[in-house]
Amino acid sequence: MITPVPLLSKDRIGLLSESAREVVEYRKSGLSLNHIQGCPLGCAYCIRHTYGLWDKDQPVALMPDAQAVDELVNHRYFQPHVTPVQLFNRATEPFLPKVRPHTYAVLEDLDERELTNHVLVITRHQLKPYDIDRLNQLRHVKLTLLFTYSGIDDPKIEPYPSHVAAESLKLMSEPVRRRYRTILYWRPLVPGLNDTDQHLSIAYELSRHADATVFTGLFYRDQIAAYYKANGIPEPYTDTARRKIVPETLERRVLDAFADSAALFRKTSCAVSYAHGLPDYNGHYGIRELCDICPLPQRELCAGAQRVPATEDVHRCASVLPEARDLEVVDISQRAVVVSGLETEQPRYFLQHALGFQVHDARHPHHALRHGRADIGWTGVPA
Ligand code: SF4
Repeated sequence: MITPVPLLSKDRIGLLSESAREVVEYRKSGLSLNHIQGCPLGCAYCIRHTYGLWDKDQPVALMPDAQAVDELVNHRYFQPHVTPVQLFNRATEPFLPKVRPHTYAVLEDLDERELTNHVLVITRHQLKPYDIDRLNQLRHVKLTLLFTYSGIDDPKIEPYPSHVAAESLKLMSEPVRRRYRTILYWRPLVPGLNDTDQHLSIAYELSRHADATVFTGLFYRDQIAAYYKANGIPEPYTDTARRKIVPETLERRVLDAFADSAALFRKTSCAVSYAHGLPDYNGHYGIRELCDICPLPQRELCAGAQRVPATEDVHRCASVLPEARDLEVVDISQRAVVVSGLETEQPRYFLQHALGFQVHDARHPHHALRHGRADIGWTGVPA
């Protein structure tokens, strides 16, 4: 018998940080729904640190599932059939026994509305044959399961062992006919911790089970660095960064280890889109150096879908958002639209998905060949 996730009272919700109370939030790979928060798995690098939720180690609900889905689909950022959705990717694990019924309730509610949006579910938990059957009932949503796997065996960093995610990935990928897609979400890759030749070759073997693989580094934010220090965990970097860190030499070694792979990607949206036979919904095709590892048919698909927007297109999309009233289009190139005047990142992600084209903020320039990652570990590459 599973005890349901308790619903927090209004008073208790009022004590949460403002960002934690934001149940629908735009993050880079999609509009994220997080009405369940709290996780006992204790990964040291968890993004919960940055929302003031680290001490919440048991899941609680901020509202019932039906209300949460209503808030999502009626949100000003939500576009039916267009906006990619991410479920419980910020504050809990969607397949914890207590959380699982909520995950299914949301997926099935979205599916009953006949929405065809991408839905991304990131997990490291144990999945069971039952999950194959139940997820295969979904008829409309484009579901992708992303299995977080790092190969890190230090229990201070990952108390919940990585091999569980590896087994779940294999299990869920096994059926030849299935309606959902599977991704090996190989992260966080950290030099000196989980990047030996053996780690790389195990990940390569595992990748052969998945529809696609994404490799990425660590979000080493201030709050996470403070936790590492306080708990005597060796610090992987001497500096923190707002983007994920993937040093240049590590990237080279990953590409070499995966030289025979036909489905390795640097970006989550690229892998998800590829797995569904669709062009990248984040419009990364303009950033051509990202595509050098992508299968040729996929590159052709993205090339065919790429439309460089005009300034009026950007303003037209932005006109529905009050928070974008000061938006200015600084530049438009084959690579990206560069904008200024947006206080937060969320409206920029909305524009990116509405236009199917990269939209960058003039305050945070992207450096050529760094793939939108932190500068740490890269040298001699022109800006
Ligand atoms: S062609 Fe480029 S943008 Fe399209 S999926 Fe491949 S890597 Fe991503």
